[in-house]
Amino acid sequence: MNRNLLVYNSLTRQKEVFKPITDGYVGMYVCGPTVYSDVHLGNCRTFMSFDLIYRYLLFLGYKVRYVRNITDVGHLLDDGEDRMSKGSRADDLEPMEVAQKYTNGFHEMMHIFNTLAPGIEPRATGHIIEQIEMVQDILDKGYGYIKNGSVYFDTLNFAEKTGEYGRLSGRVIEELLSESRDNLKNQDEKNHPSDFAIWMKASDEHIMKWNSPWSVGFPGWHLECSAMSTKYLGKTFDIHGGGNDLKFPHHENEIAQNIGACGCQPANYWIHTNMLLMNGKKMSKSDGNTISPSELFTGDSEHVTKGYSPMVVRFFMLQSHYRSPNDLTDDALQAAEKGFKRLFEAYKSLEQLDSPEVKGAPLDLSIEQTIEGAFLNMDDDFNTPKTIARLFELVTIINSLKDGQLKINEISKDGIAKIKTAMKAIIFNIFGLKDESESSAGTMDGLMNLVIELRQLARVNKDWTTSDKIRDALGEINIQIKDGKEGTSWSYK
Ligand code: AMP
Ligand code: ZN
Repeated sequence: MNRNLLVYNSLTRQKEVFKPITDGYVGMYVCGPTVYSDVHLGNCRTFMSFDLIYRYLLFLGYKVRYVRNITDVGHLLDDGEDRMSKGSRADDLEPMEVAQKYTNGFHEMMHIFNTLAPGIEPRATGHIIEQIEMVQDILDKGYGYIKNGSVYFDTLNFAEKTGEYGRLSGRVIEELLSESRDNLKNQDEKNHPSDFAIWMKASDEHIMKWNSPWSVGFPGWHLECSAMSTKYLGKTFDIHGGGNDLKFPHHENEIAQNIGACGCQPANYWIHTNMLLMNGKKMSKSDGNTISPSELFTGDSEHVTKGYSPMVVRFFMLQSHYRSPNDLTDDALQAAEKGFKRLFEAYKSLEQLDSPEVKGAPLDLSIEQTIEGAFLNMDDDFNTPKTIARLFELVTIINSLKDGQLKINEISKDGIAKIKTAMKAIIFNIFGLKDESESSAGTMDGLMNLVIELRQLARVNKDWTTSDKIRDALGEINIQIKDGKEGTSWSYK
């Protein structure tokens, strides 16, 4: 915490020294996924970027309240239908089954990529009351109007009174006249095209709807994040994040709602991640320029020559700064795979290095500078590519010590210990990488323990057929099990 962290704030468009509202505590809200379809790699990039930011804040010693929502209502298609309802009609499922199905898939993917779970994961549908209250607050403050049971946010009045609308996205009201991605069907109800719905009256066939003072309907998409961030983090908190594409209209409208209802900016720092591209173009399902995480892992896609492991993909993501576009190509993934292997091999060699007790070893100072440089790069708006460059300077030193190009007495015991501590912290705690060879060995152990337990159970039940079958089947794949006094053990033949 005694480090000087610089954060690029999208609201002020500059890097600022990070100073949380409360000493030692950070409130962070990140817009989560819309759970009507499988999470794609672009989403994963954004959530991995915020995982890195979360991890670094924890590393610096902050207590972080990390809130990431699940959008399970209110994301409308151009024809005004809720995406969740459309998904449920298509799959013959309840809307909540659709939401649960894709929430489960999202969690699984986040787990595969080794991202830390947020402390609170609120769902939009679980916070309808809070959203209705916020609509009422906005109406009471004079920033909303009711038309045929729907409630709209009065952007012109808000802009005139506060001068705030358009600050985040840099758009002016005139520009907004022609662009409003809100429910086009009800466009004519609005006083101004840049106004947006905060409560919408539902048609008869609409499935997801709730009672409210204005109509049986549902909240506008932008409202959930305003209501849930206020509920869990307070009227003003430290960090609000999401992908670049959410700046407008989602975050611009969120700010308007929060100022409209509470009279203050919701967040002091707005952090936006840049987009993931593929072969230089935006990832898009409609023109086939897309790859799912599982296609990438298995290599079952025309866009890659082979499969890449989750940690190689995570390392690939870390190789670009979160504010730069990241172009996913087969070549870049191959390079990431090589880099990832080189890093972990060096880390393993490092564990075996032992230096004699020498004082004032010639390389110690430059090692300390390299390590400090790595952390300074993280302090500079979480600059992972530059931090990785510093890590590879350490890798070069380790490899030179290993192959004898550098003599071991050129670094002190303390110098080696410092490299170990720094690399461990950066690779595992901050970057969230895992040694996949270890984890596969761990999985094998876990699986074999399970098989041995099942065989034991069969033996207790005197089910010799099953217990023999397990032993013989394992033998066929060259695994032998031995029953001894201390229990059953296994080994490769
Ligand atoms: P969504 O589920 O579409 O609302 O998106 C969830 C998060 O992923 C949001 O923060 C988006 O900004 C982000 N996102 C969507 N597409 C991409 C992309 N191609 N690259 C990076 N982030 C993205
Ligand atoms: Zn949001």
